[in-house]
Amino acid sequence: MGGAGGAGAPRSAVVVGAGIVGLSTAWFLQEQGVEVTVVERDRIAAGASWGNAGWLSPGLAVPLNEPAVLRYGMRALLDPRAPLYVPATTDTELLRFLALFAAHCRPAAWDRALRGNLPLNRACLEAYDELADGGVAAPTNSAPITALFASERAAARLLVELRHSADTGLPIEFSALTGEAARAAIPQASEKVRAAVRLDRQRYVDPGAFTHALADAVRRRGGTVVEGFEVTGLKQTRGSLSVHSTHGEVETADAVVAATGAWLGRQGRAWGIRVPLSAGRGYSFTVPLEEPVSGPVYLPEARVACTPYSGGLRVAGTMEFRRPDAPLDRARTDAIAASALPYLDGVDLSARSDEWVGPRPVTADGLPLIGATSVPGLYAAGGHGMWGLTHGPITGRLLARAIATGRTPAELRPFDPTR
Ligand SMILES: Cc1cc2nc3c(=O)[nH]c(=O)nc-3n(C[C@H](O)[C@H](O)[C@H](O)COP(=O)(O)OP(=O)(O)OC[C@H]3O[C@@H](n4cnc5c(N)ncnc54)[C@H](O)[C@@H]3O)c2cc1C
Repeated sequence: MGGAGGAGAPRSAVVVGAGIVGLSTAWFLQEQGVEVTVVERDRIAAGASWGNAGWLSPGLAVPLNEPAVLRYGMRALLDPRAPLYVPATTDTELLRFLALFAAHCRPAAWDRALRGNLPLNRACLEAYDELADGGVAAPTNSAPITALFASERAAARLLVELRHSADTGLPIEFSALTGEAARAAIPQASEKVRAAVRLDRQRYVDPGAFTHALADAVRRRGGTVVEGFEVTGLKQTRGSLSVHSTHGEVETADAVVAATGAWLGRQGRAWGIRVPLSAGRGYSFTVPLEEPVSGPVYLPEARVACTPYSGGLRVAGTMEFRRPDAPLDRARTDAIAASALPYLDGVDLSARSDEWVGPRPVTADGLPLIGATSVPGLYAAGGHGMWGLTHGPITGRLLARAIATGRTPAELRPFDPTR
């Protein structure tokens, strides 16, 4: 570990939030010679970083505010079986978020978000490799992602989107498959599958295991990870910052990084974060398989992602705008299973275990929040929406360098938390 910072560079940092983003930032701060303490209100990977689909997909990681989402979203918004769902609400925060999100679902705003995220897509797998080389003991698995379609027109639409993404510079290799070729590659693809698209050079992980391995590595390198420490206050004291917990514990450091996922939305206003951030909750569960699946399977028409997991298949989907801590709604997992059913054979979607809900941190403008806030010494790292697992380590690498050197790299400028 080599320190890059000169005089005035922080020697210690507290990272709030032990998800993939917070722990990646902690690990890369250690690379810069910074002593780190991670505080987590619950336990490691208690937020979105546990039950997600586990895809590391630079080819698919595009911002959520696609113009098509708005067209689809308006129809689906109030249907509890639809993959995008907003329960009837009078929550003014959420209504403000939705209004701004809708305003950003225009081609120009989406293009801006797509281009802003590009540097993260280009370097995200490299950042994972750096973690592996540095001793993070959890594998990343290379495999294509196969998207299955019941309609050739829908497959053609994905091909158009992928070509557009490739034209903007997204690193992506893909090819069209017939239904038969899809069944040869993915034995679980049903007779209803008429066409498929295969994306090469993608990876997947067990996200909970990976996040835990990252926490272990942070501890092995001399860092501290404190679970059950909910930060409720922040104080500035003579060049340093202190975070305070519900139980009166205090941690003091030269810098603090708020990596609190979907909770950053409400916390961040006092720190100059104006871009609304809401919890886009997703669900997952695991089902047994008759024979193993060779890699991730994407069902775009059903908006469902399936991933090999623990000898079975993790099935994930839904975007439900609701407060991050609201309880799991079993109707949502039923809806995911029902929508995936026509595409899959040899998968018992009724034998569900590990039912889970987690909050994606979704910003209204499709860009994450990474960098200095209006409070000196306090940084934000979050708001990656659908793709925080893919973009977590590269976020940590870029932010740690910015904190240690005091210079914001060009890649981080679009993500200024006070924009
Ligand atoms: C169903 C689903 C599927 C997904 N699939 C993928 C995928 O395939 N690929 C991908 O790249 N992304 C995927 N995502 C998105 C990804 O999971 C998230 O973007 C990512 O996990 C966000 O990480 P984070 O560290 O910012 O937040 P989190 O993992 O939510 O971590 C934030 C942590 O902060 C803690 N915290 C909050 N407030 C406080 C406080 N006051 N004090 C102390 N601690 C606090 C929380 O307890 C939590 O542990 C998916 C998400 C879902 C829901």
